[in-house]
Amino acid sequence: MGKLKWEPNKQWRGIFVQVAETEQHFFYKYEGKIFVQSKTGPINERIPYCYACGTEAKVVERTVPIWDGPFPCSGSGRVESYFAFYCSTCDPQPSSGTIRDIKINK
Ligand SMILES: [Zn+2]
Repeated sequence: MGKLKWEPNKQWRGIFVQVAETEQHFFYKYEGKIFVQSKTGPINERIPYCYACGTEAKVVERTVPIWDGPFPCSGSGRVESYFAFYCSTCDPQPSSGTIRDIKINK
């Protein structure tokens, strides 16, 4: 781990992360936690997992209304989605948002 070179300001599926890689793995650093993704092997083994505990990672999707109208809380009704990495073992239950499984389809 010590030799990893972290690149800041990257995005993985809408999640803002730092990314590092080795020949075999991608590493995603998110809010102090690290998630690891294998570059090889069957699809179902390429779902990122929590570096600390090995639990398969999930994402939390939060939607935030965009108030782009002229008055407070007015506008088009548009929402924007924000995504966060989530480990169901290490992280507390999120207070808002929807927990989604990560699907790898390639
Ligand atoms: Zn964990």
